[in-house]
Amino acid sequence: MKKAIIYFYYYLLKFKNKLIYGGNTIVLMYHRISDVKLENNQYLTISKANFETQIKYFKRKYKILSFEESWKLPFYKTGIVFSFDDGYANFYNNALPILKKHNIPALLFPVTSHLESKDYFWWDKLVLIYEELPDLYYLPNKEQLVNKKSYNYSILHDLIKNKKTDYIEKWLKKIMNLNNLSIKFDDEFRSLNISEIKKISSSNLIKIGGHTHTHFRFSATKKMEFISDVKKNTTILEKITSKKIDIFAYPYGDHNQLIDSELLMNQFNYLFLANDYYSNHFFKSKKIISRILITDIIDNELINRLRKFN
Ligand SMILES: [Zn+2]
Repeated sequence: MKKAIIYFYYYLLKFKNKLIYGGNTIVLMYHRISDVKLENNQYLTISKANFETQIKYFKRKYKILSFEESWKLPFYKTGIVFSFDDGYANFYNNALPILKKHNIPALLFPVTSHLESKDYFWWDKLVLIYEELPDLYYLPNKEQLVNKKSYNYSILHDLIKNKKTDYIEKWLKKIMNLNNLSIKFDDEFRSLNISEIKKISSSNLIKIGGHTHTHFRFSATKKMEFISDVKKNTTILEKITSKKIDIFAYPYGDHNQLIDSELLMNQFNYLFLANDYYSNHFFKSKKIISRILITDIIDNELINRLRKFN
């Protein structure tokens, strides 16, 4: 009953917003476009074919918008804006050719800590490490061997996900050493490199924004440390692209009002969340943009996923 009331209120509010502000704009949040799927990272990986199927559907059903153009739409129309987080090389290799083919503008928010190494981001590294671990293995800070069934991937992920990135990197090194693992990183989930970012930035279709240097979780530590990680990221990106970096996406969508005001006052024109909510031209004027996560779904699943935000 309570759930039904919440739904009713949500749809009523959405209807009211559309009447007052015009049609919604849905800002999609993508991560990896790749045909390689590892058991524990499938959720955020979309195959090239499905990505193109999604694009074709969006082109038929919605108005594709760039971030910069006006989002003022008639109430019966819905806009779609594409955004890609983290800055995977597979954005350059797999997504960009498809975006260019369909002339789709997009936003890209790269992390900059891995531009000069082929090392994976920690969450993908954990996926590979977990695959290599034997049934009984050593866990950092635990004396006895643990069982892979009880200490599965999501338990390990939960153990470290709220820590600072340098703590996580040390932890991953430790678990590899304790269990004598050596892992080969292929090209599929590496970060973009400097020359790829340069080429992407020279394309008129793609606007680049900040996403912190180390994929810093805002609530993991002090505000000043977060801000300096943000600055490091934008400085590097501005040097590579010779463009002002004036938009920013919070890693994990983790933020509060204080940091919003500070970043808007000192550094950015717009901030992007990961809060599973629609946007519109009025919300855009408030400078804080809602986004929805998009996964490897097509047809009815995709239609149902978007229905709530149309
Ligand atoms: Zn991210």
